[in-house]
Amino acid sequence: MNEPVSISPRPVLDTLPAYAAGKPPAAVEGLVAYKLASNENPYGPVPAVRETIAEFDAISRYPDPLATLLRERLAEHLDVPAADIVTGAGSLGALTQIINTFAGARPDGTQDEVIFPWRSFEAYPIVVRTSGAKDVQVPLTEDFRHDLQAMAAAINDRTRVILLCTPNNPTGPILSTEEVEGFLAQVPPHVLVVIDEAYLEFIRDEGAVDGIEMYRRHQNVVVLRTFSKAHGLANLRVGYSVSHPHITQYLCVIATPFAVSSLAERSAVASLDHLDQVMERVDQVVSERERVVQGLQDAGWDVPDTQANFVWLPLGERTPEFVAAAERQALSVRGFGTEGVRVSIGEVEANTRFLELVRAFGA
Ligand SMILES: *Cc1c(COP(=O)(O)O)cnc(C)c1O
Repeated sequence: MNEPVSISPRPVLDTLPAYAAGKPPAAVEGLVAYKLASNENPYGPVPAVRETIAEFDAISRYPDPLATLLRERLAEHLDVPAADIVTGAGSLGALTQIINTFAGARPDGTQDEVIFPWRSFEAYPIVVRTSGAKDVQVPLTEDFRHDLQAMAAAINDRTRVILLCTPNNPTGPILSTEEVEGFLAQVPPHVLVVIDEAYLEFIRDEGAVDGIEMYRRHQNVVVLRTFSKAHGLANLRVGYSVSHPHITQYLCVIATPFAVSSLAERSAVASLDHLDQVMERVDQVVSERERVVQGLQDAGWDVPDTQANFVWLPLGERTPEFVAAAERQALSVRGFGTEGVRVSIGEVEANTRFLELVRAFGA
């Protein structure tokens, strides 16, 4: 065999942070293990999804590349034209498509810029840098919210896209309608504003922004939504964006062909057809979230106001210690360096064990 030659990747690969997916929980004798590390739905999908999967009989056939059935169904639900909906392999697939379409490196070597809050969804820097664009990370405020003033100040002539994440993963707070309207008024109309609403269904704060409303009012807004969280379809990879035709005309050019399988498409439709059952599950998660937040406060913890299916513990240097303590209780949680820990709302028993751990650990 020949010596392997060195085949170099693009230099940008050296700059990419590794996506650290949530780990499965470690086995501990005598304890049921729970994963509270990936914001998954503890109750799973609605029964109609399981029936759809059991009956699925088209594995050897390519899917409809346009996911027509799902887009039509979503169009009815959202009261938007089906043409404004573009599906992707999860909303991450849809986001990658948006970034690759509108931001990258220019022929003259300059880089387009993409502004987003930080800390936020850890896929953002990976997707942005891979496209060849420059990521402009704007630190969150002290109460773990978007610093919209600083984000507006970061806009320059190289800015192409801005990402907003509401509720923000991993910290939990939402953006209000007034905040987003005030921000959009400062964004030039040729700059795209993506509103990532992965946790929309868990919001109970009436003042929260509705991305679809922003899309109706603003030509440069793109909304991102997913079936991974509230609908419990994370493994099937189905999400979508909603934006106006002057944007979607380009998104369709760059779309990965057949990104959404028919199995995923039909499951998403089945879930939409049983939205009342989906929302019952979401209500259970929200009521557990309220119990967990109350329990944290009773134990003397000061946590940011979460409207998602997770809570953020700003533990700083004690982050790794807490992750290890959770592991000993057969709970996998998501630590971020020495910043903090994100804990998903899970099964009732898992949440109760988390609260016991928190009390033992000390605020
Ligand atoms: C989970 C998540 C997503 C996307 O997940 P998909 O499974 O790709 O749909 C997108 N944005 C945020 C902020 C998330 O937390």
